Amino acid sequence: MKRILFAMAILTLACTFMQAQKSYDFLLTGGRVVDPANHIDAVMDVAVANHRIAAVAAHIDPSLATKTVDVSGLYVTPGLVDIHVHVYASTGEAGSYAGDNAVFPDGFTFRAGVTTVADAGCSGWKNFEDFKTHIIDRSKTRVLAFLNIVGAGMRGPAYEQNVAEMDSQAAATMAKKYPGLIVGIKTAHYAGPEWVAVDRAVEAGTLANIPVMVDFGTFRPERPYQQLVLNKMRPGDISTHMYLDWVPILDAQQNVLRYLFEARKRGVIFDVGHGGGSFLFRQVVPAVRQGWVPDSISTDLHIGSMNNGMKDMLNVMSKFLNMGIPLTEVIRDATSNPAREIKHPELGTLSVGSDADIAVLRVENGHFGFVDSYGARMDGRMKLLCEMTVRDGLVVWDLNGLTRDDWTKLGHYHAQGSPVWDGTITPDVMKR
Ligand SMILES: [Zn+2]
Repeated sequence: MKRILFAMAILTLACTFMQAQKSYDFLLTGGRVVDPANHIDAVMDVAVANHRIAAVAAHIDPSLATKTVDVSGLYVTPGLVDIHVHVYASTGEAGSYAGDNAVFPDGFTFRAGVTTVADAGCSGWKNFEDFKTHIIDRSKTRVLAFLNIVGAGMRGPAYEQNVAEMDSQAAATMAKKYPGLIVGIKTAHYAGPEWVAVDRAVEAGTLANIPVMVDFGTFRPERPYQQLVLNKMRPGDISTHMYLDWVPILDAQQNVLRYLFEARKRGVIFDVGHGGGSFLFRQVVPAVRQGWVPDSISTDLHIGSMNNGMKDMLNVMSKFLNMGIPLTEVIRDATSNPAREIKHPELGTLSVGSDADIAVLRVENGHFGFVDSYGARMDGRMKLLCEMTVRDGLVVWDLNGLTRDDWTKLGHYHAQGSPVWDGTITPDVMKR
């Protein structure tokens, strides 16, 4: 008996030692890695250790990993970066983007392969810290923010049309207090005839040395969009809602207007910001055909857009895929491009040493329909689906249980998974 106990002790020790010897916590094998920042588009393995990307190579030995998942036939990309969302839920304010119109990020991001979002101006300098406490600090999704030039944020016309609320000094001071977290200044929804909202936002952006994202609000002849992108915005500033019906894109012959290419040449960034009202096939399809494509794809996620034509990040990406933009470019527009635009080039990539944020995507072939903001449909043959999302080295979404073992083949039927790679099992279940 003693001998058996001794042998068991040795075996336990050996197992512990072997476990400690594992170089990688998690390994994805056989997927097609698309990592635009590193110009990779090839079948490769990706290994994760200590919450970071540890290796990307043609073949990585599975015996070195605690958990290995075969993702042959799927695309392995950096976790998607969506730089236009509204996630300041939690205040209880009705009819407000700093309230009920926003969504809690974790419920909507991971299932679409998104691991980083930037809130687009729900909060201003007066309520950013409340947003930080209630959402940013509590979310598994990496939440960054564009700070609204309006001190109270996106709380409706009483605030957003009040010029006295637009304090560039106070906004810049708050932005400088949270460098890297506040990634830009936002101006939105302004209806007045003056340039004041744009000017104050650019002032704040200059003081804090961060980009400005412009939702141009009501388009008025006193302040033409052409002047905005040719004179007012600085290189690196972002014009979101680039395909909005009010944006002058096409001439009478359906040709893309040349000033747009001039604006891009001087460094202005053009972002999709699909949302509930900013995406019309009548504008998008002829524009894309002539090369007027996005620098970054973003959703403008909120309670209105998610249940209509926008739906989620992958649905918006799929629209561009079906319009003929190659998959590698669509992925670039949803990873490394937006990351660079918000001055976080370390995100949206699978570079060794970077945070292990990964999306595993499937391209479905079949008959699909895509809907725009006017409720018009475009038929398509391809659709992106998210099979798995890894955030900070942990699997946080696994649509078809690729990481899981068949229940009929489990010897000891106890709670599965391991805190080393699994971010989905709740702690009380783990104890069983
Ligand atoms: Zn928005």
